[in-house]
Formats: sequence, structure tokens, C-alpha cells
Amino acid sequence: MATWTLPRLTRPRLGAWLILAVAIFAGVTAILFEVSLGYFQSLELQRSQGRVTLYRSTLISALDRYQHLPYVLARDPYVIDAARGGDREVLNRRLKDFAEQAALDAIYLMDRTGLTVSASNYDEPQTFLGQNYGFRPYFQSAMRGDRGQFFGIGATTLRPGFFIAEPVRDSDGRIRGVIALKLDLTGLETAWNRGGENVFVSNPDGVVVLSSDPAWRYKALEAIPDTRRSAIRNGRQFGNEPLTALHWRPDGPDFAVLNDTRFLHVTAGIPAPQWTLHFLVDEREVLVQAWFSVIAATIVAALILAIGLYVRARRIRAALHASQAARRKLRLANMDLAREIEDRKAAEQRLETARSELARTSKLAALGQLAASVTHELGQPIAAMKNYLAAAEMAPRPEGQGRIIERLTGIVARMEKLTAQLRFFAQPSADRFSETDLIAVWRGAQELIAADARIAGIDIVEQMPPGPIPVHGDRLRLEQVFVNLVRNAILAMADSATKTLTVTIADEGRDTRVVIADTGCGLGDASLEDLQEPFVTTRASGDGMGLGLAISAEIVKEHGGTLAARNREGGGAEFAVCFPLMAEERAA
Ligand code: ADP
Repeated sequence: MATWTLPRLTRPRLGAWLILAVAIFAGVTAILFEVSLGYFQSLELQRSQGRVTLYRSTLISALDRYQHLPYVLARDPYVIDAARGGDREVLNRRLKDFAEQAALDAIYLMDRTGLTVSASNYDEPQTFLGQNYGFRPYFQSAMRGDRGQFFGIGATTLRPGFFIAEPVRDSDGRIRGVIALKLDLTGLETAWNRGGENVFVSNPDGVVVLSSDPAWRYKALEAIPDTRRSAIRNGRQFGNEPLTALHWRPDGPDFAVLNDTRFLHVTAGIPAPQWTLHFLVDEREVLVQAWFSVIAATIVAALILAIGLYVRARRIRAALHASQAARRKLRLANMDLAREIEDRKAAEQRLETARSELARTSKLAALGQLAASVTHELGQPIAAMKNYLAAAEMAPRPEGQGRIIERLTGIVARMEKLTAQLRFFAQPSADRFSETDLIAVWRGAQELIAADARIAGIDIVEQMPPGPIPVHGDRLRLEQVFVNLVRNAILAMADSATKTLTVTIADEGRDTRVVIADTGCGLGDASLEDLQEPFVTTRASGDGMGLGLAISAEIVKEHGGTLAARNREGGGAEFAVCFPLMAEERAA
């Protein structure tokens, strides 16, 4: 069950996180895109304003440069004379010279009907001479006494140009003709075209008169009313151009759609001919800039994120290393501490052992002093009692007293035995150690306890090699250890059904081992430390003094050995004595 719940819980959560992350990313990208698009649009509009101002001033200066030339020419005596019907040949040459100097398309003089009577291009195939321009609005306004300005396609040359006309008056102010000049603006258009920018100029009717793109020229930005259309036709302003509509639609204050492409659109007015200069920037350029900035920002953000993640990962790794090192240090410190605790426990154990050993030793020392004085003080009276009893035995005595003397002799013998035991403590171990064979020691002890064992019905089993097992020690004292341990075993088996005493003597390489095992009552809960305390006994008063084990332990210690005791598995007790091998042997 548990293995199913985990993926069921985590999967949708992961999906939700993913959707949220994608949504946030998309949202941020969209906002970023909008902001950068707005920014680049305003930047582009600002730049376009600059460009349009430049185009406007070039155009105005191109138009203004010749504004006053017709006025000056209208006051030229040659012109006035020719208008009055004077010498037109001279004027032709004069006008040609002016036109060449001023780099104008043409300068020409019309009479009151509009017939060209003198022209700078008098000697060219497409001369204006003899042509009547009475239909042109600039002629008509000049005839009305105003300055005429007009853009149109040349009726004769079919080349577009800008016409400026001025009335020519004689001395009494009557208009005798009209002097006009034609300015070629195609150079300007060519320059715009080469510049690669989208610029065009529309007249008040909405017809494109100048354009960087020839395809837009003579196209209408809006529908031309029929009345205006016929006026244009009458003035032959655009020759036979159909003035079809341009696919043009303004889109808000800053945009326009031209041929299905959206452009940023900036305009400027040209005052005198009331034209409008249009400057267009393809919106896709701005979109590309905006996208580029979004992509650049995304890359930078991704880089920052990657660097951030890298730095974080490094920091985490460093922290992990540090914590691992700290944990290692802690573990080592713990181990040191544990070792120290172990050492301290061992030291405490040693101290405790030493303390109990000291207590035992001081008890034994006190016992030694006591034993010395007791054996000394009791020795004389016991010897005297023995003498008197011997004398009493020899002397004739009344009936019944023989038994008393016999009993007293027994008691005195026991007292002597006790003092003899106590004497052990009174005589500190002398330096009488020599190479002693443990097997021989056992044989000696065996002789001493043989009678007791036989009476008690004990089977003695021996497990020992025939050859000698040498130790460095005192033969008599070692014999005492055997005797003590075997005596205790015999007593412990008094009530046992099986009475087997097993004596094992073995050479175990590093040391020699003597084990005395019985099938007696066992040690119960008592430890060896308790039992080997002097005067500790479980026997009835008179049977034991509780000194046997104390004496044995002391002797074993003198020999640099150890005494151990434990209960046997099948019942009974087992006492083990370990003697170190002789130094020479160990070296061999
Ligand atoms: P004692 O024999 O005079 O009592 P010991 O010092 O020799 O003094 O022994 C002390 C006590 O140890 C004994 O009273 C006895 O209870 C116990 N003990 C010694 N050896 C054995 C054994 N082989 N089996 C059972 N108990 C024993």
C-alpha cells in the first residue's frame, strides 16, 4: 500500500509545480517583452522624429532655394520687354544661362493666354516654346496676381517637377505675362531611395508626390472626391496617372499599415505647398530588437541562475564536508572518550582489587602478629599439658580416668595442630625457592591425605604426565596448597553419592596448571574472594577455622601464580592453580 501512495501523491504535485514554473516563466517573458517593446518603440519614435526633421529641412530648403527667383526675374527688363512683345531671342539665351547657373529644369515666360513665348530650353527637342500652360493652376494664380506654386508631371516632358510662377507686370502694373520655373525634385527622391529609409510626401489631396519607393508614387492615401479628381485632371497635374489607392491605413497616432505591413509612422508638415512628410519604420525591426533583448535577458538570467546554483551547490558541498569532518572528529572524540572510560573503569577495577588485596594483606599481617603471639603464648602451656598428660598416662590411675586422659590427649593434639596452622602466618615466606617437580609435590601431599580419603570413601582420579613438571617454588608450602584443597574437597563430598576427586596437572606451554575437581556440594553463590577471606567457613565450629583457602591463596601468590574457583556443570567445585613456567624454560 505504502509504495502506491507515494507516487500518487507526488506526481500531480510535480506536474502542478511544472505548470506553475512554465506559467511564471511565460508571464515574466511576456511582461519583459511588452516592456522592452514599449521601450524600443519609444526609442524608435524618438529617432524617427529626428530623421523626419532632417528630411523636412532638406525638402524645405530645396523648395525655398528658388522661391524668390521668379519674383526677381519678373522685374528683369528683358523679361518685361519680351512680355510686351520685345526681343524673345535674347531672352531665350538669357533664360538658358540662368537655368544652367541655377541648375533648374526650365525657366520660361508665358503670355497672358498661357502660351510660352520664351524658354530656357528653346533649343531642346522637348522645348516649352509654343506650348500653352493656361490650364495649369500656377499660371492661373499668377494671372490673379499671386505667386503660383504647384507640383505636377510635366505636360511636355512628362517629368515631374515643382513649378513656381510670378506675374510679369509692366510699369503701370498691368500683368503682361507669367514667368515660371520648374524645379526637378527627382534628385531628392533618388537620394532618399539610396538612403534605404521609407519616406514619402503627400499633397493636400492625399496623393503621394515624392517617395523613396517608386511604387508608392502618385498613389492616393485616401479616396479622392470626384470634384477634386476632375480639377486635378483639368490641371493635368499628374498626366495620365490613374491615382489608384495605396493599401494604406493609419493605425493609431504612431502606426500605419501599408501593404499589410505595420509601420511606426511619424509625420511632419511642409508649410508652403501644404504637404505632409511621412517617415515609416517597419515594426518588425522593433519586434526583433525586443525579442533580442528578451532572449539576452533570459540568457543572462539563466547564467545568473546557473552560477547561483553552482555557488549554492559548492557551499552545500563545503558545508557537508565540514559537517562530515566534524562528525568524524566527534566520532574520534567519542572513541577517545569511550577508551578513557574503559581505562578509568579498568583503573577503578584495579584500584578496587588493590584495595581489597591491601585489606586482605593488612588482615593477614595483623593475623601474622596475632598468630606469632598466640603460638608463642600457647606453645608453652600446650607443651606442659602434653608432658603432664604423658606422665598421667604412665602413672597408675583410678578406673574411668583412662578415657578422660585419652580425650584430653586428643584435644591437646588438635590445639597443637591449630597453633601449627597459625604458625604459617607467623613465619613470612623465606627465600627457599628451588626447582621443584609438581608431580612429586602431589605425591607428597597424596601420602598425607591418603588415610582421610580412604576413610571418606573417595575415588582419586589422576590426570598428569609421568615425567616431571618443574616449577620454581618451595616444595613444602606447595604441598600445603595441595593438602588444603584436597581436604576441602573431601569434606565437601561427605554427603555426596558419587565421591570422585580428579587431580589434573598439565604443562600448558606458557604456564603449568593444577586443577582439583570434586563431586561435592559446590560453592553455591559464594565467590573465591569471599571464601579466601581468613576465618570465613561454612563448617561447624571445630571442623574448620576458615584459614585453608587464605593460606593457599597466599602461597600461590608467593609463587607468582593465580588461584581460581568455580562450580562444575554437573555439580561440585573446581579449584585451579596456575604457576608460571620457570624463566629458563620459558626462554628455551
Ligand atoms: P575451612 O575449610 O576451615 O572452612 P577454608 O578456607 O579451607 O576453611 O574454606 C572456606 C570455605 O570454603 C569452606 O568453609 C567451604 O564452605 C568452602 N569450600 C572450600 N573448598 C570447597 C569445596 N571443594 N567444595 C565446597 N565448598 C568448599
